[in-house]
Amino acid sequence: MIPAKFGYVRPTSLADAIAALAGNGEDAKVIAGGQSLIPLLRLRLTDTGLLVDIGRLEELRDVVDEGATLRIGALTTHYELVHDPLIAEHCGLIAAAAATVADPAVRHRGTFGGSLAHADAAGDLPAVAVALDAVLLASGPAGEREIPAAGFFADYLTTTLAADEIVTGIRVPKLGASGGWGYRYEKFHRTAQAWAIVGVAAAVRRGNGQVTEARVGPTNMGMVPVRATAVEAAAAGAPATAEALQQAASHAGDGGDPPSDLNGSPEYRRHLARVLTGRALAAAAGL
Ligand SMILES: Cc1cc2nc3c(=O)[nH]c(=O)nc-3n(C[C@H](O)[C@H](O)[C@H](O)COP(=O)(O)OP(=O)(O)OC[C@H]3O[C@@H](n4cnc5c(N)ncnc54)[C@H](O)[C@@H]3O)c2cc1C
Repeated sequence: MIPAKFGYVRPTSLADAIAALAGNGEDAKVIAGGQSLIPLLRLRLTDTGLLVDIGRLEELRDVVDEGATLRIGALTTHYELVHDPLIAEHCGLIAAAAATVADPAVRHRGTFGGSLAHADAAGDLPAVAVALDAVLLASGPAGEREIPAAGFFADYLTTTLAADEIVTGIRVPKLGASGGWGYRYEKFHRTAQAWAIVGVAAAVRRGNGQVTEARVGPTNMGMVPVRATAVEAAAAGAPATAEALQQAASHAGDGGDPPSDLNGSPEYRRHLARVLTGRALAAAAGL
């Protein structure tokens, strides 16, 4: 299908991009890689009066070492997330999840900022951002603000971003091997290169034969990604053994509101969450 008519601008500065959005209210949309927005426009599931293409804003592409954190530009593509050496060293969970997104063509165009702003419950990177306690950096007419990932996702395809704000970057705490951290992203899908029926992002810190801290973010277990706090609490302080981590994973289906669709019922998803969480925790702990 052909999209409804829209205007198009491609600003070369962040200030101009914000001005274009602010001048058109709810009738303008940001476009980054276009891998989610273009299909929605073509299917006429959404429309817009003006597309503000941020693809020329080079300052949104950097990956910067800030000391205890990395600042990853919003326009960093999935391909770059997979191959960037700083991300591999300090935030390998992001690279691991990005490697499972779609196919090479989509990974070369789709962006980190776009994946978070799109806020699809089945998207792989929102759960990772929540598990890692990432912070989104957003700029609008009133300046820049920081939005913790846990407060960014409001509902299905809905965020707390204002219509005239642009995600410029994502600040992520370093959880690398030098700090004792391991990680794993487990994803269950019907075919390779498809959306997650359920996914689990896990980061585990080990010390003296024990798990000292665990971060667990399930994908597609509700309309917004929420940390599996019961699993995290059960894993923290447990011996770093497969049995103990499997026991912690048994809480993975607790609470939440998993969707029911052609791919599975809520109960099936709870079962998957328990299985995948056990695998992810064990692999993250190096077992
Ligand atoms: C065939 C196919 C398979 C896919 N499979 C997967 C998969 O397995 N896993 C997965 O997670 N995703 C998958 N996707 C989705 C896709 O990879 C991401 O959603 C996409 O990359 C989003 O990034 P983008 O830059 O393309 O965003 P766009 O499509 O440009 O934008 C998406 C939304 O985010 C907003 N937006 C984008 N950037 C910003 C910004 N910086 N600030 C504010 N708002 C912004 C836009 O206004 C729009 O509402 C798939 C897509 C396709 C086409």
